[in-house]
Amino acid sequence: SDKGLIVSFGEMLIDFVPTVSGVSLAEAPGFLKAPGGAPANVAIAVARLGGKASFVGKLGDDEFGHMLADILKQNSVSGDGILFDQGARTALAFVTLRADGEREFMFYRNPSADMLLKPEELNLDLIRSSKVFHYGSISLIVEPCRSAHLKAMEVAKGAGALLSYDPNLRLPLWPSADEARKQILSIWDKADIVKVSDVELEFLTGSNKVDDETAMELWRPNFTLLLVTLGEKGSRYYTKNFRGAVDAFHVNTVDTTGAGDSFVGALLCKIVENPTILEDEAKLREVLKFANACGAITTTKKGAIPALPTEADALALING
Ligand code: ADP
Repeated sequence: SDKGLIVSFGEMLIDFVPTVSGVSLAEAPGFLKAPGGAPANVAIAVARLGGKASFVGKLGDDEFGHMLADILKQNSVSGDGILFDQGARTALAFVTLRADGEREFMFYRNPSADMLLKPEELNLDLIRSSKVFHYGSISLIVEPCRSAHLKAMEVAKGAGALLSYDPNLRLPLWPSADEARKQILSIWDKADIVKVSDVELEFLTGSNKVDDETAMELWRPNFTLLLVTLGEKGSRYYTKNFRGAVDAFHVNTVDTTGAGDSFVGALLCKIVENPTILEDEAKLREVLKFANACGAITTTKKGAIPALPTEADALALING
């Protein structure tokens, strides 16, 4: 196909989600296995919308790693960038569903296979063939995957890809909040497109106001697009020439996991189809409406991957 390739780089793992909420991990009567990891969700979001997607990352050569590789394949995501570590195991997260609806995570990462991705193991031809290269921050935490992350960004950029960054802040994974902020901001200005949630905006700026002035503190002169996602309040956009907000859709929300990844996947799909939307506010607003619809749909079902929409699903919501 002549569609531009979107390469998503970083972690893929399994969340063990208890079948009931409001109890401790030890008291949970059972768990469901929910595959996830933000970059992997984005890759599947792109493929489900009909885009061309590839995932680059390392899995354990174990039952869970092979399960995850199969899930990518079943969802039409190219596996050319998947590596299996012969020693370490696949990353896992054990989730507590608190009574107040929030989630707490305990990670198996000591170290997990994804953290052991080495720069020299990267499939550079694949990365060079990307039109958009998307990544999160988890791979910045430790070596050697940190060096692999920096190299992959450099190679993609050198080959002319647009770089897309979603920090996916998961504080418990970092040694400290200061370290997380420092590392995230250390690669901040290398991206072309950056998406943050309202929580990340506050964290990175140290402000308690989610407004244009705070968002502009995160703007860099080389950015083409900065996005702030606001859950049921929709999203805000900032470019060199215009800024604004696009309302969310009203849906029956049951689980917001993956909404941001669905939003990003939709946006990247449309940008790869037609990069000129970045210079045309009316077109960009249409695309963000589509991305908001994709995010909204993702909240209407449990889990991230099962809830990601097709283009027809999104158009059905938009056209009511
Ligand atoms: P993140 O996962 O990055 O925090 P959000 O939860 O803000 O991202 O979700 C991304 C987008 O998905 C939002 O901008 C919005 O358009 C849509 N969305 C998320 N939650 C809801 C919701 N409860 N109702 C409607 N749309 C939602």
